[in-house]
Amino acid sequence: MEYREEILTLLKAHHLRLTKIRRSLVDVLFQNEAPLSVQDILCKLRKIQLTVNKTTVYRALEQLQNIGIIGVVRLGDRKQYYELAFREHHHHLICLQCERVEDVDMNEDRLFAEEKKVSDERGFTILRHSLEFFGLCRRCQSI
Ligand SMILES: [Zn+2]
Ligand SMILES: [Zn+2]
Repeated sequence: MEYREEILTLLKAHHLRLTKIRRSLVDVLFQNEAPLSVQDILCKLRKIQLTVNKTTVYRALEQLQNIGIIGVVRLGDRKQYYELAFREHHHHLICLQCERVEDVDMNEDRLFAEEKKVSDERGFTILRHSLEFFGLCRRCQSI
């Protein structure tokens, strides 16, 4: 898989080895097209027979976060989600009922036009944006 190269380079640059836990975290996040909570991650690790405690997972996540492999997504309240940091720019749909998060691509040309307008009108230099949609997912609507 082509994502490996980038990760190995980053790890090497920080004198870190690709340990089993680090590799598994990257794999789990790579296989899921949506940000995951620590709870989700623990659950997925258990499914692949990797029993680790929460502290170990938190520590590994933090390390990978510090060197730019994993990014944290903070959505509204206290809940934190993790995703691979070098994913292409995208947005999120957050279900308020089950707290599941999905990735969504937007028309960035139109967003950029809006951004430019705001920037011109307010004299504010915009470096990046994040855009999240809160609501009910398909599954929760049918309950
Ligand atoms: Zn839901
Ligand atoms: Zn965007």
